[in-house]
Amino acid sequence: MELPEGLITALENAGKVLVLTGAGMSAESGVPTFRDAQTGLWEKYRAEDLATPEAFRDHPQVVWDWYMDRRNKIREVSPHAGHIALVEMEQYFDSFALVTQNVDSLHQQAGSTSVIELHGNIMLSICSETKKLIDETWLRSNPGRPPASPHHPQGLARPGVVWFGEELPQASMSHAMAEAYGCDVCFSIGTSTLVQPAASLPFIALNAGAVVIEINPLPTSLSPEAHFSLKATAADALTTIAAGLARRK
Ligand code: NAD
Repeated sequence: MELPEGLITALENAGKVLVLTGAGMSAESGVPTFRDAQTGLWEKYRAEDLATPEAFRDHPQVVWDWYMDRRNKIREVSPHAGHIALVEMEQYFDSFALVTQNVDSLHQQAGSTSVIELHGNIMLSICSETKKLIDETWLRSNPGRPPASPHHPQGLARPGVVWFGEELPQASMSHAMAEAYGCDVCFSIGTSTLVQPAASLPFIALNAGAVVIEINPLPTSLSPEAHFSLKATAADALTTIAAGLARRK
């Protein structure tokens, strides 16, 4: 792809960069998004009806099994060239904060350092009552679906993700907001910028004077506001940007 004029120059002049990624970033690796129709056993369910505290309270086994299925699908995929390009880009800036709404660790697998996870991590299990982390060895020796929690007599193991209607981890969100207020360039990649509060981050950066670069094949509410709106996939756009930086920096 060809980059719009001025994009690499904006990056060359930047000290602090914030990157926000969403489901589209992982979709390119083959992780199904919540908006994709479900398949097989899960055809009759909508993802957004399973990812809630109420669904887990009423049907813990269905929700647990669905997450175990998603875990297994995620184990089969790998980071793509766009994930790797983000790792390469870190070296060019004084500060490079990577904030993700994804729960699959693909950024960490690619080698990104200090990823800020806003929606938790699907590979971890926590207690439904105390939210304390549950040790994997303990889980393996307790076969329920879901297994009971060792941390509370009424507790069950649940995936370590943020469900609809739940608060985001406060420390992660505060850190992400501080990065949004202070960055020179903000990337918004593979996110519909619909699901709050993460969706507010590129708008905070924009209002604070940052150059905003969106990467998404489809238009979003951010597209008309962004300084650069690249209608491309994450892998295509990010590899082109990383190559452009390597030539110029
Ligand atoms: P999203 O599914 O809302 O948006 C994904 C975006 O990625 C879309 O705008 C799509 O055009 C874009 N995209 C697709 N392929 C791409 C590619 N190869 N490269 C770049 N962009 C691509 O996901 P989100 O914005 O991350 O949503 C935030 C969070 O909310 C996620 O954690 C998600 O799981 C969850 N969610 C909830 C609901 C719900 O109905 N409650 C719906 C969707 C997402």
